[in-house]
Parts: sequence; structure tokens; C-alpha cells
Amino acid sequence: MNHKKNSIFDVSFEDLKDILVDLGQPDYRIKQLWRSLYHEGKKSFSEITNISKDLRNILSKRFYIDLFKPKIYLSSKDLSTDKALFELKDGELIETVLMRYNSDGHRNSRKTVCISTQAGCALGCTFCATGQQGFRRNLTFGEIVKQVLYMRQLALSEDMKEVAKGSRTKGEIQGVTNIVFMGMGEPLANYDNIISAIRILNDPLGLNIGARHITVSTVGLVPQILKLSEEKIQINLAVSLHASDNETRSSTMPINKRYPIEELINACKKYISKTGRRIFFEYVLLSEHNDSEEHAYKLGKLLNGIKCHVNLIPVNPTDEGIYGRTKSDKARNFQAKLKKFNIPSTLRSEKGIDINAGCGQLRSRIEL
Ligand code: SAH
Ligand code: SF4
Repeated sequence: MNHKKNSIFDVSFEDLKDILVDLGQPDYRIKQLWRSLYHEGKKSFSEITNISKDLRNILSKRFYIDLFKPKIYLSSKDLSTDKALFELKDGELIETVLMRYNSDGHRNSRKTVCISTQAGCALGCTFCATGQQGFRRNLTFGEIVKQVLYMRQLALSEDMKEVAKGSRTKGEIQGVTNIVFMGMGEPLANYDNIISAIRILNDPLGLNIGARHITVSTVGLVPQILKLSEEKIQINLAVSLHASDNETRSSTMPINKRYPIEELINACKKYISKTGRRIFFEYVLLSEHNDSEEHAYKLGKLLNGIKCHVNLIPVNPTDEGIYGRTKSDKARNFQAKLKKFNIPSTLRSEKGIDINAGCGQLRSRIEL
């Protein structure tokens, strides 16, 4: 048999299981291999010592354990945020961000990884650096998961250092605690791959990250939001709203012409009633564009009675930067208006601004 050598991370559990069974292996072998790859993060076949050398040899002729190595790696001055640039096999470049939150000592600390789902994006939002680059291609589920595997290894080694210093016990080793699909690309336009990736991230034999600690952000693709509501996975959904009327929204988000606000909100309502989960609405504050009291009032009316949380995000100016940042007083006033409609919201603070964390968009915007 002549097989082309592939990334093992692009083979599903079922396919890998079939391959092992064809090789005469017992049923439990797949679980050992899967656990070694995803749970333990083994870097090569030679490290997977609970399977025989013969089997390791056969597998290494067919598959690469091709974990990512960054082409560029940056850390913010305050050391809270790191950004990695990875080059894919075909030369495409993607970005992944690690954000560290230390509210009061390590016990409440979180480490969130922000991942990309496409190289580029076809949706062309005018405030978004990725959108201005155009679409290149979808990432495979392996390419999505490998971003987390890289950052988890880093997060774990930081935890281990704290254990060595005595500031953390072994039981408090946690690695990556949260994942947000808020990097480059539109996750719901790469639907099957993000679902496969989420299942691996969530799998106890995989990365074992709770579904409630995983957030998918969408520009608002109505059919996919409805499809997602049927998946029976308890992830968080964030919807990029960024405006409360069609005219304002269409002027920065071309997708609004296809799925206008009324349709989008209807889909969100259906999602909430189907899943019982609230939705996070993201609202990037663009100075003099969508940040007036009147806009806040309209947003309040639009979301009134919907089980949701609004994240207000001061825009991160991009190179073409035509949008200015809303002053903090005005942002707080906007938030106060929403409160009058009983709509809970959070005003985001910066993270990693000095490293331009993720083409002007990968920043702290969700607190879970
Ligand atoms: N395509 C998806 C997910 C990736 S973008 C989506 O659009 O939701 C993640 C978030 O970053 C979205 O809410 C997006 O609107 C926002 N974003 C894009 N450019 C930004 C910028 N320059 N400043 C702040 N947020 C930005
Ligand atoms: Fe694409 Fe999201 Fe950027 Fe819009 S904001 S262009 S959907 S990545």
C-alpha cells in the first residue's frame, strides 16, 4: 500500500480507529493514541511509549506529528498577552493569541486562547484588518486544534514553574482554561471543521476544555446559527452586532445586506429558546458612527427581553484605520443607557495593544 504522508491531526477519531483496527490492533488502542496526542500533547511517536515500537514505526511512515512552531512570537510589555504567527504547510499565515488574566492571585487566574478558523476572511467588515485582506482558505480542524496545543504547552510550562516555586500546587495546574473563536476568519463559514475541532477540544480524552469555556463568535450567518442550535453542545455563542439599525450595520458589515438585523435577531431568539443559553452580543464602539445615545437607546429597544449579555469593545484602530476610539466617558454613558433597559453589559479593557494582538481584533472581549 502506498500512502501519502499526512498530518495525524487531520485524521478523525473514527478514521484513526479504523486504521488501527485494519492494522490488527485491539479496540482500546485508539484511546491510548488519542490521549497521547491530544491530552498529553506528545511531540513525536518515539514519546508515545505505551504503544509498541512496531506500531509506532508503521504510524510514523503514514503520519506526521506536525505540531506548530511560531514564525514570529511576541509578548506584550505587561506580559499579559502573547501573539504567535504560524505558517501553514502551503505558506498561509495565521495568528493565535494567549491572554492571561490574574484577577486576585492564581486561584482566579484564567488563560484564554484566541484562535483563527480561516486564513483571511471573505466578509469584508470595514473596521477589521482580516476582512480587509480578503479570503484565502478554510483551516482544517487539525490546524485549528494545533493552535491550542501550542498555547497549552506554554501555559502548562508556566504552571509547572509556579509549582516549582511553591506558588501553586500540583492540583492547581490548569493550562489553558478558555478558548475563543475570535481570531482570523468567520468560524461559521467553516462549519464542519470548527465543530470537529470543538469536539476534540471538549473531549475528556482530548484537551478536556469544558464546552462552557469555549466561545464561538460569528458575524451573523443566520442558517448556521440555526444549525448550531441543533448541535447539543453547550458552547457560548457571541454574535457581532455592532449596530442597532440596518443602515448603520450595512455601512460597516456587508453581510447585513444578506441577513439584516430583524432576521439575525429572530435567529438568535430561536437559538436561545432551543438551547436555553444566553447570547453574547458584541458591539465595537466606533467613534461618531455607532456610539451616540440614540444608538444606545435603539440597541436597548432591540435587545429588550432577550436573554443576552452585551460586550462593548472600543475599536482597535487598524492600519487603514478610518475609525476612532470612543472616549471612555461616552462609552460609560452608552453602557448606562443599556442598563435602563435591563441589559447587562461589560465594557472591555485593552489587552496586548502594544503587540497589536491579532491584526487589530484579537483582544480581551469576553469574560466567562
Ligand atoms: N468573524 C467572526 C469572528 C472573528 S472577529 C466575527 O466577526 O464575529 C472577532 C471579533 O472582533 C468580532 O466581534 C469582530 O467584529 C471584532 N473586530 C474586528 N475588527 C476589530 C477591531 N479593529 N477592533 C475591535 N474589534 C474588532
Ligand atoms: Fe471576517 Fe469577523 Fe473580520 Fe468581519 S470581523 S471581516 S467576519 S473576521
